[in-house]
Amino acid sequence: MLEIQNLTSGYAGMPVLKNLSLTVETGSIVVVLGANGAGKTTLMNTISGLVRPMSGHLLMEGRPLAGLAAEDVVAAGISHVPQGRRVFPGLTVGENLIVAVTAATKRAPGGFDQALEEVYELFPRLKERRNQLGWSLSGGEQQMLAVGRAIVARPKLILLDEPSLGLAPLIFQSMFDAIAELNRRDGTTFLVVEQNAEQALRIGHRAYVMELGELVAEGSTAEIARDPAIEKAYLGA
Ligand code: ATP
Repeated sequence: MLEIQNLTSGYAGMPVLKNLSLTVETGSIVVVLGANGAGKTTLMNTISGLVRPMSGHLLMEGRPLAGLAAEDVVAAGISHVPQGRRVFPGLTVGENLIVAVTAATKRAPGGFDQALEEVYELFPRLKERRNQLGWSLSGGEQQMLAVGRAIVARPKLILLDEPSLGLAPLIFQSMFDAIAELNRRDGTTFLVVEQNAEQALRIGHRAYVMELGELVAEGSTAEIARDPAIEKAYLGA
């Protein structure tokens, strides 16, 4: 679905990502692991059009993404859940979800109502709090809402930037369970960047490991989880 070839990207002429190549197969959950500052957010922002690549190719279903405005990347079927969630603080849960409606939402069978039902089924907590304002939600509820907005947009590919950040272990475990459930249920493809290797490897199919803007390992999540160097660096072994 997504093919990244020899991507170099960064800020003010200084590359952060260096010659990076990565593939996301349709229907899979691909995990990119990396420590603070490895360039994970830069990768997500380059795919979603917030940062312009310096060189290389980004292809979504064979069509080039580089140079597209962020709204055209959404139209190509990519929904980005940024780090820090960015829910609208002054809007209710329900209003935050309405704001996420896209042309693809309207085209999908059942439109917004069906999408809303799916979000509330996946996250019953959001349904209970549908009239509560964004600012008053807990961190976990805000992350659910951020993922809920991505679902409403009816994307083919969801980019998730550190969904576990700042969440208690039980909360992020259930967040990862919801992502796996969504992937199983309707085949939504995910690219997830994470520092929390254990949980991400549990739900992912393939994994890449990134250090200082370069990929240093790739394989099935089972292979990556068994790699002694990865265990030492990311799994606290
Ligand atoms: P974290 O987990 O801490 O968010 P990350 O792996 O997502 O880290 P990035 O946020 O992509 O890493 O940052 C990679 C490098 O790019 C860092 O050295 C950072 O200082 C630099 N960087 C990030 N955003 C900018 C920016 N807007 N301008 C200049 N440099 C930036």
